[in-house]
Amino acid sequence: MQLADVVIAGAGPAGSTAALTLARRGFDVLLMDKASFPRSKLCGGLLTWKTIRLLERIHGSTPTVLTESGAVDTVTDGYSVCHRGHPLALGRFAYPFHLIRRSAFDNHLLNLARMSGAQVIQDCNVSHCSPDGTLCTNRGHFRGRFVIGADGVNSTIRKCFGLSRERWMRNLATAVEITAPQEAIPHATDRPELHAGILPAGYGWVFPSRHGVILGLCGLRRHAENFRHAFADFLSILGVTDPRGLICSHPLHGHPIPYGNALQNPTHGNILLAGDAGGYADPLLGEGIFYALLTGWYAGEAVAEALERGFHPGPAYRERIRGFVLPEMRGANRLRWLLYGLNMINPTNLGRYFRMRGNVLAEMVHGIRSYDWCRRKRWDF
Ligand SMILES: Cc1cc2nc3c(=O)[nH]c(=O)nc-3n(C[C@H](O)[C@H](O)[C@H](O)COP(=O)(O)OP(=O)(O)OC[C@H]3O[C@@H](n4cnc5c(N)ncnc54)[C@H](O)[C@@H]3O)c2cc1C
Repeated sequence: MQLADVVIAGAGPAGSTAALTLARRGFDVLLMDKASFPRSKLCGGLLTWKTIRLLERIHGSTPTVLTESGAVDTVTDGYSVCHRGHPLALGRFAYPFHLIRRSAFDNHLLNLARMSGAQVIQDCNVSHCSPDGTLCTNRGHFRGRFVIGADGVNSTIRKCFGLSRERWMRNLATAVEITAPQEAIPHATDRPELHAGILPAGYGWVFPSRHGVILGLCGLRRHAENFRHAFADFLSILGVTDPRGLICSHPLHGHPIPYGNALQNPTHGNILLAGDAGGYADPLLGEGIFYALLTGWYAGEAVAEALERGFHPGPAYRERIRGFVLPEMRGANRLRWLLYGLNMINPTNLGRYFRMRGNVLAEMVHGIRSYDWCRRKRWDF
């Protein structure tokens, strides 16, 4: 059995951030992942202002550093919102979106963790975890004084929490995506486009990319029966002449998103959950990279302080989750039912909402304002 101060399962944005936080403070950290990096991850890769600020302050990764690492694909301050192909709002924000390539972005974060002193073990699949901090993997047994479960939405670590599977599944979204050549759709894409009216509780997206155009659709599973059909419907709304042909020539991949699953208490025994494993993606847009970085950092700091002072990290971690993360999750959830309600009842009102409240909404998406009643947001980074 290999021992460490902290064992972290999953080396996505949450796990790598927790690892670099702890390793920088001198702890003995094992960061393991079932994949071998650089690995691909299905994702639109859209980063908001708050994410860029966090990456600068916590990781020391400015947009220039991210660009040099090959992670940044496109930067744009434009946006558009449509309802079944009809434009509702179009404009520019004061803060740009950064669109990243996940394989390069995640690899960059993993390298930062490694350079900070974390030991990285790849091709290491965790099959079981017990609350005392023991992990069974295909590479043997490991034990940490604390374990951080950052192994994504289908977390193996979360299984030992004994939570209701039915409740988790109820709030899960499916997201499907393809990268197609720009010529696949009849209009040029130079800004992120959001498309309402395709699913009752979800939306479609068209993101520009240097490699073509990213077309995606996500929505609550319980409100949608067949995502393949819904995606074909979305493609025909975009003006694709042979949607099924496009799906066949550019295979459609799908992955779940926690879409209202945020755990109130992400701690159990000696284990803390971070990122998608704890359900921390916003229930309006499904933005999860920011919350993975943030909760990975919170979990790393809570464990570092616990190890230094000899107490349990649970209370400090839960306090930061309750103070900074859960209010955003609740507010985004309220807003999504308002917007989806407007979309169902009268799309014209949805257009009116975007024109009247577009700037406030943009500030909420970028994290300058909180989803919690539009208040100015004071982050702690
Ligand atoms: C189609 C799609 C589009 C999206 N678009 C966006 C977007 O534009 N912007 C945004 O902010 N968010 C987006 N998201 C959400 C975002 O991808 C996630 O919220 C984010 O990746 C969560 O990071 P994480 O570190 O918690 O988990 P992950 O990135 O999922 O990383 C988990 C890691 O754990 C590893 N792992 C899993 N199981 C095990 C195991 N048993 N043993 C060892 N290792 C394991 C995996 O290999 C993986 O490397 C999108 C999601 C999808 C599906």
